[in-house]
Amino acid sequence: MYQVIDGKKISQEIKDELREKAAAMKEQGIHRCLAVIQVGADPASSVYVRNKKKACEYVGIASLAYELPEETTEEELLRVIGELNKRKDVDGILVQLPLPAHIHEDRVLLAIAPEKDVDGFHPVSVGNLSIGRPGYVSCTPAGVIQLLKRSGISIEGKECVVLGRSNIVGKPMAMLLLRENGTVTVCHSRTENLREVTKRADILVVAVGRPKMVDESYVKDGAVVIDVGIHRNEDNKLCGDVDFDSVAPKTSYITPVPGGVGPMTIAMLMANCVRGMGE
Ligand code: NDP
Repeated sequence: MYQVIDGKKISQEIKDELREKAAAMKEQGIHRCLAVIQVGADPASSVYVRNKKKACEYVGIASLAYELPEETTEEELLRVIGELNKRKDVDGILVQLPLPAHIHEDRVLLAIAPEKDVDGFHPVSVGNLSIGRPGYVSCTPAGVIQLLKRSGISIEGKECVVLGRSNIVGKPMAMLLLRENGTVTVCHSRTENLREVTKRADILVVAVGRPKMVDESYVKDGAVVIDVGIHRNEDNKLCGDVDFDSVAPKTSYITPVPGGVGPMTIAMLMANCVRGMGE
């Protein structure tokens, strides 16, 4: 019988721990503050930004919201980031993605000071993760590691397969599993005999961005399956990259969508804001 990993419950535990930590820090005169910048009014981005603000309130850290108009130029955005980099009362800077097409995302992410890069997207943060130095880690893959650890699933020595190699999920996921002493394989659209590779996995992390692509034919008996995907189907219902109903009976542990990896991303953002780099 498989177990469903409850990401809602685990993310709540983490936020409660952080709330205590933030309160203790305040008693020592340490006040954390996150600046969130949104350019334009993309409805999905607005929901994410609102949820981040709510999480800050819950955990007990200050948040500053910068809602810039769609026609903001790259120079103007870079100027705002430059000012926030200098402010001593701002500990974290987050630029909500995607940005409007006329702004270069890589230039913007590069402009955020690495010591304030709570999303973990700056090349310095990525490099630190790769060579095992302290630094901010991308929130979604960091959340997957917490789901595994807090469910008592050991990573050390296990065959870990990551399906997807994006900069925000697949690659940092692979680095984190390696840091936990997993034996890691990364698959992508050019991987040959994909099912043969994914069927080797004791732990299979799926971040492929294709609704319900992974069915039971991709999964070994007793595997742990983590589904990072989020999609909304025609009926406005959420589903993941994994076909839960066909895959779950083969697994030992599986994450649902919604209620699996999703809630962990904001919890880990809060962890980055409260704890700072390297903890
Ligand atoms: P991307 O589209 O950036 O990356 C998808 C990856 O999957 C690519 O590496 C691509 O390979 C690979 N891929 C695509 N199709 C196939 C295929 N048929 N066979 C094998 N590999 C394939 O997606 P993201 O990493 O940004 O996101 C992945 C999923 O996670 C999405 O559903 C997204 O919505 C969700 N997500 C959820 C978050 C959360 O908070 N829970 C946060 C971020 C993302 P190639 O590189 O060769 O093109």
